Amino acid sequence: MTEKQIIFSGQVPLPAIGQGTWYMGESADRRREEVAALRAGVERGLTLIDTAEMYADGAAEKVVGEALNGIRDKVFLVSKVYPWNAGGEKAIAACEGSLRRLNTDRLDLYLLHWSGSYGYEETVAAMETLITQGKIRRWGVSNLDYDDMQALWQVAGGRQCATNQVLYHLGSRGIEYDLLPWCQQQGMPVMAYSPLAQAGRLRDGLLHHPTINEIALGHRATAAQILLAWVISHRGVMAIPKAASVEHVRQNAAALDIRLSAEEIARLEAAYPAPPGKTALDMV
Ligand code: NDP
Repeated sequence: MTEKQIIFSGQVPLPAIGQGTWYMGESADRRREEVAALRAGVERGLTLIDTAEMYADGAAEKVVGEALNGIRDKVFLVSKVYPWNAGGEKAIAACEGSLRRLNTDRLDLYLLHWSGSYGYEETVAAMETLITQGKIRRWGVSNLDYDDMQALWQVAGGRQCATNQVLYHLGSRGIEYDLLPWCQQQGMPVMAYSPLAQAGRLRDGLLHHPTINEIALGHRATAAQILLAWVISHRGVMAIPKAASVEHVRQNAAALDIRLSAEEIARLEAAYPAPPGKTALDMV
């Protein structure tokens, strides 16, 4: 079966599951396992790695840098800039800091982590400078709701935005009201963060729900794999689960091949309905 792909900037096809790194780099004891997990993921096709200058205060980027040793060209590398660094010389310095920690000369995608400190004009201008300098290939945003995206679309160059990375899992479906359909209409991929609801921490009982587990049994899969399969069943949506063990990475990669039937999707969505109207964008 052909696995589901997401196309960035109309050019770069990637498997619809990638790898997150939040909480990596927090402990020296876990570093070796984190590096091994990331490398195992790339080997199994989870070639997008998502990180940020924020995670473990730069130490997650160092873990990724170690994992990239010898395989940089196989990876689509994503990092994020703090809002208060997202303009002018600060953006250049922040990006250079990320590149140093990641031990590479370019990012495939650089995201504004959330908005607030600089106007979109300044952030877009900084991103364009970084592209001209060859430090990033493309840029995008994170945690922007529908109205924020409309504002970004009014800015010169704003429509070059390659993605919006937002919280999305079966237990948090607010983006389906307006943001997701709009991104789909623009042909802009959405990156779903916390697709496992942080192993259920963000939504009590998600991994233990009887419906999810029944469906998992039918696919000889785990509840986590069904959650990933559900996220990527949406057009133009990729999931970036964080996994710090090779076994979790193996499961997450295998979720690329799970096809949920329309009936299974309907059962999952009946168990966790989308809110009936507009809600504020969910974030962690
Ligand atoms: P996730 O929903 O990815 O959950 C991570 C948790 O799930 C970890 O405890 C992990 O355990 C566990 N897990 C992973 N795979 C499995 C599996 N197959 N079965 C059971 N448990 C599993 O949460 P995150 O919040 O980490 O989101 C993913 C990524 O999205 C982040 O790492 C980060 O890169 C990005 N993100 C971006 C944000 C933004 O503001 N832009 C905000 C939050 C996240 P273990 O580690 O032990 O494998």
